[in-house]
Amino acid sequence: MKRPTFIDIHAHTNFTAFDADRNEVVSRALNAGVWMINIGTSEATSKKAVDMTKEFPEGVYAIVGLHPIHVNPSFHDKDELGDESKGFTSRGESFNPEFYRELIKQGGKKVVGIGECGLDYYRKQTPKEIAKQRDAFIAQIELALELDLPLMLHIRSGEGMNAYRDVLDILKVYKLKHGDKLRGDAHFFAGSVEDAKEFLALGFYLSYTGVVTFAKQYKELVEATPVDRIMSETDCPYVAPVPERGKRNEPSFVTHTADKIVGIKELGLDEGRKQLVNNAFKLFGL
Ligand SMILES: [Zn+2]
Repeated sequence: MKRPTFIDIHAHTNFTAFDADRNEVVSRALNAGVWMINIGTSEATSKKAVDMTKEFPEGVYAIVGLHPIHVNPSFHDKDELGDESKGFTSRGESFNPEFYRELIKQGGKKVVGIGECGLDYYRKQTPKEIAKQRDAFIAQIELALELDLPLMLHIRSGEGMNAYRDVLDILKVYKLKHGDKLRGDAHFFAGSVEDAKEFLALGFYLSYTGVVTFAKQYKELVEATPVDRIMSETDCPYVAPVPERGKRNEPSFVTHTADKIVGIKELGLDEGRKQLVNNAFKLFGL
């Protein structure tokens, strides 16, 4: 089967930051041998991610779901949803399984997971807001199990509040009941080495962004992640890797992050790149 040289397992070329030049950005990646999975964060961005799989017949996949910051009235990011949708995001969305089930049916085999979902404590949350985040997360775990799809996890801790511990507690309950059927990736992993080990013990993969090219603290995490459980991502348009730092990030830049990971893992370049792609093919069933 045809395989790309690289894969960006967490991109957002479905966001408004790419409205002006989306086709060029995606084509630039595909021509450089980079495939991508665009990740939804709301009903609107999930639908866009699925639409894009139809526009590009090869190398573009989608994951659909509701980001924890959109469960409650949230900070508005113009790069994500543009100016017009300001009122829409500020209200917050609740997770509607019917909507996502239908979207996944439309997308067919190109929809390869549920998310990004999880817990985000970066901006201070009230107990009621945290409860809503948990409800949306749990509903997405249940949909992933029902449809036998992996999860794309978003986890962000806040001042004195460890989101990694809370996500692990929820996942452990489902793991007992569902075993290997519960699977996924902890995207933009930034927990401790101890947290990493617990996600790995639950069978999860860990993926790293361009921060590995400039923030030294990620070296230890990458070293602690086995070669068959690690993946590379951009999280574009955010956090461009060195040497593209400061620019709008895009999937073709994942090459820098992938090669940095391959270097830390002390793999040969060809072997390492192949391994990262194989890991993504295996988890997401590409
Ligand atoms: Zn993301």
